[in-house]
Amino acid sequence: MQSSQDLIAAIATPPGRGGVGIVRLSGPSLAEFAARLCGFRPRPRHAHLADFLDAQGNSIDQGLILYFPAPASYTGEDVLELQGHGGPVILDMLLQRVIALGARPARPGEFSERAFLNDKLDLAQAEAVADLIDAGSAEAARAATRSLSGEFSRAVHALVEQLIELRIFVEAAIDFPDEEIDFLSDERVERQLSEITEAFDQLMQRAEQGRVMREGLRLVLAGRPNAGKSSLLNRLAGHDAAIVTDIPGTTRDVLREYVHLDGLPLHLIDTAGLREGGDAVEQEGIRRAREAMETADCVLLVVDDQSPEDIAELRRDLPPQLPVIIAHNKIDLSGGTAGYRDDQGRRIGLSALTGEGIQALSERLKAVAGYRPAGEDVFMARRRHLDAIERARAHVDAGQAELIESRAGELLAEELRLAQQTLGEISGEFSSDDLLGRIFSSFCIGK
Ligand code: GDP
Ligand code: ZN
Repeated sequence: MQSSQDLIAAIATPPGRGGVGIVRLSGPSLAEFAARLCGFRPRPRHAHLADFLDAQGNSIDQGLILYFPAPASYTGEDVLELQGHGGPVILDMLLQRVIALGARPARPGEFSERAFLNDKLDLAQAEAVADLIDAGSAEAARAATRSLSGEFSRAVHALVEQLIELRIFVEAAIDFPDEEIDFLSDERVERQLSEITEAFDQLMQRAEQGRVMREGLRLVLAGRPNAGKSSLLNRLAGHDAAIVTDIPGTTRDVLREYVHLDGLPLHLIDTAGLREGGDAVEQEGIRRAREAMETADCVLLVVDDQSPEDIAELRRDLPPQLPVIIAHNKIDLSGGTAGYRDDQGRRIGLSALTGEGIQALSERLKAVAGYRPAGEDVFMARRRHLDAIERARAHVDAGQAELIESRAGELLAEELRLAQQTLGEISGEFSSDDLLGRIFSSFCIGK
């Protein structure tokens, strides 16, 4: 789907100062464009040292110019890369110059959107580009690279192929009505259906790990003032992020911190001590604490192991649907046992001060998130992907039920078709402009 598009330009390197800064262009006839900017036509895929010239023919900056003619480029169109000095003013001058020569500023993600429209990337790969850039850990980066290379898309496609194969078989059976019964009672159909559902399960597992890795676990730290919430947060974060004092009620705001446990992003929400009364600032802190809890995945309730408060009473304040882990803190003072205190790991003895028992907590948190680190087969995936896999799977289940109930080949074939179409949403084969707009607009400019 080669499209004739206008010329877009953007500074592709991050804002601020750096050794090199890049202005990227994509659109038609960029060899001629380069000649107007630099005075010569660059050879494809060669690095030329060039002067980037202003309207009077004076040099704005000197740098490298790279020309990638269509279709062998990131976007599938002609692409020019101007590598100049990485200062915000000089790069802006260069951008203004290429705009004066006829380019327009690119929207966020517009380069990747063109790559998608020109079939250089499918939608899942384009999303992986953004996820790779946003990756907050080496594990997340590896998973994004895997998706970007097309591994995720290929696994989805293999499943689509299985669906198509079975649908062709079933439709052939329908076309020969006399033999329909025989065809469909053929155990081949049932065997293929069970192979397909197994493939769905595997795909789901790999993608779910990627989603967990991308979204992480939202963890609320709750408990009485001075129980050690801030200290525990600092211990998990590995640096002094929250204020730790021995004056009750010091942590007045909801403090958000973002750390990694073996590649699992933890969004820590430290709350004001859930204390009745207090001044206006404290009241506001309590209100925000309750709000943060509504969107969390898990609560970490911190109690002082020296004076185990009434845990049942503390739990009454917490949203009942959330799993709660109770951290019995300060075992260095209480002499209590470190690590799990029940089979489910819902009570853990630890010390934010000495670090004892922290490993058990970290294992427990990964388990709650459903995160298995070091999975070398994890795809970077989004909720949108998981949702499509789930809905496609539901169609297959429905088709299977129809077959068992009424031996109805038509209904099975239709459900298989719907399953196939639903999986097509992942690669962008079936996707609305709306969805595309939402995905690409969340990218950074110049990507
Ligand atoms: P918060 O109000 O729940 O956030 O509690 P803080 O983290 O501010 O800690 C209150 C006090 O307890 C501080 O003086 C901490 O140094 C101390 N504290 C926290 N955790 C431990 C621990 O595991 N052992 C000991 N001995 N003291 C701790
Ligand atoms: Zn605190």
